[in-house]
Amino acid sequence: MNPSLDLPALLADIHRDTQAMFGRGRVADYIPALASVNPCQFGMTITTVDGQSHSVGDAHVPFSLQSITKLFTFVLALKVEGDALWQRVGREPSGAAFNSIVQLETESGRPRNPFINAGALVITDILTTRYAQLDYALLGALRRLADEPNLYWNDHVARSERETAHRNMAMAYFMKSHGNFHNQPEAVLDNYCRQCATEMTCAQLARATLFLAAEGRALSHTDPADEPFLSADQARRVNALLLTCGAYDAAGDFAYRIGLPVKTGVGGGIVAIVPGVAAVAVWSPELDTKGNSVAGAFALERLVQATGWGHTSI
Ligand code: GLU
Repeated sequence: MNPSLDLPALLADIHRDTQAMFGRGRVADYIPALASVNPCQFGMTITTVDGQSHSVGDAHVPFSLQSITKLFTFVLALKVEGDALWQRVGREPSGAAFNSIVQLETESGRPRNPFINAGALVITDILTTRYAQLDYALLGALRRLADEPNLYWNDHVARSERETAHRNMAMAYFMKSHGNFHNQPEAVLDNYCRQCATEMTCAQLARATLFLAAEGRALSHTDPADEPFLSADQARRVNALLLTCGAYDAAGDFAYRIGLPVKTGVGGGIVAIVPGVAAVAVWSPELDTKGNSVAGAFALERLVQATGWGHTSI
């Protein structure tokens, strides 16, 4: 990392400028419990592989990870299934909305990638077969990666999504009709909604995704062995998938504006990986029409412009 970069000063500038972005998007309301979140919040954390962590604004306020959890469940599935999982899900950008159902019909029940809802449901189905208590297995992995024992899902948000998960349920049954869903959709949806309702702060999320910037090594303060969480090759591949598929049907726009592997969620969070350098988590609840945080994307664009991060990674 360029030693002359003053990350705290840069974060303070970005924080100031994002105030002008409030009011340009809308908080997700299709999950009723998310509709009550205060929209005018913004937090950001940069955690570097050389041990620095800098935060600004509401970076220590927990928020609903939603689709950002798809990154973690995909990594868990990759660890337990390896390349066999590609028989059940593709790795191409969808170019369609995160909850789109149309491609499932034309592609015989095999979702385009693991980061849209249909693909994430298949991943959760795979993990439901593997783990008797997937929710706790996921929390265990997140607690280890974040070096933080106090991580939970929000039961109110999980129930609220579960009661209104009609479209996700329809996709699960459709995939089952094609033989691409092995458990009962109801049980998988229970797990999926709890997974999506996991809460973290920006500071915790940046820490939890640092392994993707560090060639798969979980850089634990408590585990000096830096035991690999993924192989370097697997981490490289996860990052490639995040770059091409991590922002739904705005993946091309994000690559153009930001040029880093990212995963977004309708809770307003975005995590971005700077391979070899840092993990960045940003959160602001107002979303654009594609379901991505308006102020979050703006902040990341400012960050890469100022640092040059990502300019050499693609
Ligand atoms: N739980 C949300 C859903 O399945 C996640 C969507 C998102 O964050 O993009 O609709």
